[in-house]
Amino acid sequence: MSRRPLIAGNWKMHGTAGETRALLSALLPEIAGVDDRDVAVAPPFTALPAAADELSGSTVWLTAQNVHWEAKGAFTGEISTAMLLDVGCRAAIVGHSERRQYFGETDQGVGRRARAALVAGLVPIVCVGETLPERESDRTLEVVERQLRAALLELQGAAIATVCIAYEPVWAIGTGKNATPTQAQEVHAAIRAVIARSAGDATANAMRILYGGSVKPETIDALMSERDVDGALVGGASLEARSFARIVRFG
Ligand code: PEP
Repeated sequence: MSRRPLIAGNWKMHGTAGETRALLSALLPEIAGVDDRDVAVAPPFTALPAAADELSGSTVWLTAQNVHWEAKGAFTGEISTAMLLDVGCRAAIVGHSERRQYFGETDQGVGRRARAALVAGLVPIVCVGETLPERESDRTLEVVERQLRAALLELQGAAIATVCIAYEPVWAIGTGKNATPTQAQEVHAAIRAVIARSAGDATANAMRILYGGSVKPETIDALMSERDVDGALVGGASLEARSFARIVRFG
């Protein structure tokens, strides 16, 4: 089964509206004509309207770095699906390890965020991944399966085939250390097997599983040649137009 690749840039807490415009105006010409894969960029919330403006007429997905499950209310600091749709978002990252690690997000909350996004018509990009101590104590698959099951439980009954999973080993994020293609493939295959058990083979075969963690222009081709690696979620290397464009143009 061939899945359309998705390359997503997570710009984290980098970029004013003006800097985001400048990055996009450097990036878009570099990826012009690429139409056999999806590309997404996730600027900070305050730069989303400027990014939407720069992206008008482009197929690049405007993506949020998070979303809340409630429609509105007393949730200081949170952003709703309607707010994201209003500025032109097509997707939302949920459960990034930085949200889990530094802001106490839980497996169940991540699932609720994913569900709200999906129900609203946004593509949820659900991040899962183990820490270094978890990998070193041979608990990678157990941890990833726990995170995934919690999200899938919340997504039950929804049309989940369009959800994207991002496998991001925490020890590889922003560290310059990346999982080898073989390590990534092993976990991606396990993720697909968990999805198959919970949602059936057709859904598992349709869902895109991205790898994230220090992806660079030099490492993308080998990662993308693995059977169950359907794309990448890229942090640092997506902040520079040339390097992100090379990643988008993998293969
Ligand atoms: C990320 O933030 O999702 C990420 C993978 O970051 P980096 O590519 O910098 O490791």
